[in-house]
Amino acid sequence: MKKSFLLSALLLIAGALFAQEAKYVFYFIGDGMGQNQVLATEMYLAEMQGRIGVQPLCFTQFPFTGQCVTFSTSNGITDSSAAGTALASGEKTKNGTLGLRPDGTPVTTIAERLRDAGWGVGITTSVSIDHATPGAFYAHVDHRSEYYKIGTQLAETGFDFFGGATFYHPHLLLDKKQRIWDEASPSLYQLCRENGYTFARGYTEYQNLKDNAQKMILIQPHEGLTDDYEGEGMIPYRIDRKEDELSLTQITEAAIDFLSSRHDRFFLMVEGGAIDWASHSNDGATVIHDVIDMDEAVRLAFEFYLTHPDETLIVVTADHETGGMALGNSDYTLNLQLLQHQRKSVFAFSNALKEMHKQYGNKLSWPQVRTMLENSFGLYQAVAVTPEQDKQLQQQFKQLMKGKDKKVKTLYKEIDSLADTAMRILAVQSKLGWTTGAHSAAAVGVWAVGVGAERFTGWQNNTQIAPKIMLATGVN
Ligand SMILES: [Zn+2]
Repeated sequence: MKKSFLLSALLLIAGALFAQEAKYVFYFIGDGMGQNQVLATEMYLAEMQGRIGVQPLCFTQFPFTGQCVTFSTSNGITDSSAAGTALASGEKTKNGTLGLRPDGTPVTTIAERLRDAGWGVGITTSVSIDHATPGAFYAHVDHRSEYYKIGTQLAETGFDFFGGATFYHPHLLLDKKQRIWDEASPSLYQLCRENGYTFARGYTEYQNLKDNAQKMILIQPHEGLTDDYEGEGMIPYRIDRKEDELSLTQITEAAIDFLSSRHDRFFLMVEGGAIDWASHSNDGATVIHDVIDMDEAVRLAFEFYLTHPDETLIVVTADHETGGMALGNSDYTLNLQLLQHQRKSVFAFSNALKEMHKQYGNKLSWPQVRTMLENSFGLYQAVAVTPEQDKQLQQQFKQLMKGKDKKVKTLYKEIDSLADTAMRILAVQSKLGWTTGAHSAAAVGVWAVGVGAERFTGWQNNTQIAPKIMLATGVN
């Protein structure tokens, strides 16, 4: 009896001596990033090198991989708020709900637990910082669409760093249709400043302001910050980004810099949020560019891991799949390299078309629009257009000129049917398939490296990820 007690005590001491705890945790969530969004990116990159196969991303080379199912308590297909809640807290909830259990009681997120244990916390995204996935780490509201309330809760988190597009609704929205804002409500910018946050608009401003900032919110530069009622939905897609615009890589770099200079332990969540938006509009080329974008952010975390291999954990996963993306749509061929001819997102093309229409009015001609289709999607050049497709495009152009275009509604934006058709002609020939403009129930991937990474293998539920992260940190 005495002997076994001694042995247990020795084992406990040895365990304590050799147990490694993660001091730096990176949690990457590709919103809507199903396995095929990842594989399409790798196969596209290989095709661009003139070969069949995969060009591995950084995170797919992590030593431990698993799969994760994503259903919510209310449906087999989750939305981002229920999935985010599960990934942030380990508890499932119903679609639409953010940070609350189905009975309305609040969950505790790993970001909150680690903050309470003295860790630095950063929450970042390529969409707005009050959106469902980032919000799942700090907000507790009945519905994800309560953006203003989510923002007021953000202001009170005490988290060190936020990064993303800005707020979706910087003021309280009284009438969604007519865009009437409650002018009496304090703006979220004001509330955050009152709570000790400094706003940096763009990476250069971040560098100028960081030393004197206690807590930081890094956002996409835009005019009229304090008086702006319409917030920014997203930082530009990678495919559309201009040099001076904020990128997810810059946000991640700033977050690592800010947290590591102030804390000896930190947790950073990075969301590739625009992968979902592009998948909702079935915009394959834009999806691929944004998966690459998130992978570039992962590379920064991986470089950090290489300098702190015994103290760092990186977990990469997705909240769900979006679009029902398929690799193959008709026969035994895949031709993803064709997507290189798409030069802007379908959103950006639709906006450019609107601008042209405004500029030229009734004088806008089909040859002008056809040139746009050549330049933006490679149509009529590298991407062949059948006589039927040509007829359809010209018909849609005529309708547009008459002001009778049937707009295509994607989840976050409305686009011209001409833009949608052009994108789909390219998708068909690239052999990409899409089953839906919504989410699917497809299992998503999990990739991990570092302290405790071996726990993330196998077939998992999305409620298991957060507890495994907590286990790696040693925080109760
Ligand atoms: Zn999502």
